[in-house]
Amino acid sequence: MMKEEEGQRFSTRAIRGQTERTQYREHATPLFLTSSFTFDTAEQMANTFAGEEEGIIYSRYSNPTVDELIAKVCVMEGCAAGFATATGMAAVFSSLAALLRAGDHIIATRAVFGSTHQILTEILPRWGITTTYVDPENTSQWDAAIKPTTKLMMLETPSNPGLKLVDLKAAGEFCTHHGLIYVVDNCFATPYLQRPAEYGADLVIHSATKWMDGQGRVLGGLIVGKEKYLEPITFFCRHTGPAMSPFNAWVLTKSLETLKVRMDAHCANALELASWLSEQDWINKVHYPGLKSHPQYELAQRQMKAGGGIVTFELKGGVLAAGELIDGVKICSRSSNLGDTRTILTHPATTTHSKLTETERLAVGISPGLIRMSVGLEDTQDLKNDLTQAVLPHG
Ligand SMILES: *Cc1c(COP(=O)(O)O)cnc(C)c1O
Repeated sequence: MMKEEEGQRFSTRAIRGQTERTQYREHATPLFLTSSFTFDTAEQMANTFAGEEEGIIYSRYSNPTVDELIAKVCVMEGCAAGFATATGMAAVFSSLAALLRAGDHIIATRAVFGSTHQILTEILPRWGITTTYVDPENTSQWDAAIKPTTKLMMLETPSNPGLKLVDLKAAGEFCTHHGLIYVVDNCFATPYLQRPAEYGADLVIHSATKWMDGQGRVLGGLIVGKEKYLEPITFFCRHTGPAMSPFNAWVLTKSLETLKVRMDAHCANALELASWLSEQDWINKVHYPGLKSHPQYELAQRQMKAGGGIVTFELKGGVLAAGELIDGVKICSRSSNLGDTRTILTHPATTTHSKLTETERLAVGISPGLIRMSVGLEDTQDLKNDLTQAVLPHG
């Protein structure tokens, strides 16, 4: 279970973790939609560029609205420093590209996000950076993947879409033992449900596009972690330009104020639907970390506050039944996104994970009849009725 920091608790920090106000004493976060900033004198400008005077120069480097978002997320994740990027993938790529060089080796848990998989297997090898995948559940086998050139471990928990967990404590000990940079993509859990820095993670990455906004409005990425690593990452990002737009940062600072209430409701709805799905005769198997039937239920109880908003299930009728269900729903959305107030159904085998081979898909638990449901905030009875009428159109 997560420790609450001395003093303010999570939701207070998410709402009050703001920086100073301007001379207008505005209540909500102001939006500084400006590309650049001005100086009073040539000397002040020179000193700011030299780093001798505090000041904001240009929004590719930093921006007050973006800085407020970063400061909030640092407090929520328990991290010292951060950088905000335009998308989650920019956060993943910039972190790896800033910290690694030709010849370095990465260990990653199998079943990382699709585009992360493309970066690890197609893009980074062009610069001589290679990756070995390991089984997320079998920590005892990880030692075998270590090479003299191994520099970093990258993992996601719970994984997409298999919802397998990685033991954050065991991974932290493994990284410490081998001197690896420990990186966690915390997108599926959010800092409300799980805080990897408490287990020694050096960097925590987010696609803020998902639960952090939670309302399907903006793209965004976040990298928070130890000062030592954020320094080269900030240098890399300032000069290569993946910065988050101030507008998106402004939307996201507001989103975070409701993270706790949204996640509590998403998790409650997801648990209720997962239990209900487990009892339906058209279902083969339900995967949800908050269900006692999940093989890592104990671990979920230890490192997560609740099971999260994603439920996956396998239909008895395989790929055909999956297609019929997705075509038949009248409330749920057909979309590849997740982490929204609206419930979304996705068929990973033919969409998000279609670039994998059948064997690769089965290795990460994506059977042909698997559906990923990102549980929204609609009334659960309406969602049950919607799914039922879609599988039993004549009943
Ligand atoms: C969506 C997602 C990403 C990528 O984020 P974008 O904002 O779409 O670039 C990375 N990791 C995970 C786990 C995701 O779900």
